[in-house]
Amino acid sequence: MRVEERARQLKNRLAELGARLEVIDHALEAPHSKDWEEQAVEREGDEVLEDLGQAGEAEIAQIRAALGRISAGEYGYCMKCGAEISQERLDVLPATPFCRTCAR
Ligand SMILES: [Zn+2]
Repeated sequence: MRVEERARQLKNRLAELGARLEVIDHALEAPHSKDWEEQAVEREGDEVLEDLGQAGEAEIAQIRAALGRISAGEYGYCMKCGAEISQERLDVLPATPFCRTCAR
């Protein structure tokens, strides 16, 4: 896959994650109900949402870094050892900064 296509793929994913985080933020801002039991359920839901939000933000940061490496012409090479990252690995993890060996 050409690097331009990777960039498009990463940008699409970025937009998707941004939209999802917006939904999560809105859900977290929603007022809680007065019922105690319902509140307990809602709090648990909030924790799940916060975890999802954090995972999403971590992925966004990773994708932004990958897009930065694309502009710098460094994309597809391991940030640790400099080895070329296999296409198969990039197909699964397009934003990964490390080769399979270094990611272990
Ligand atoms: Zn490496």
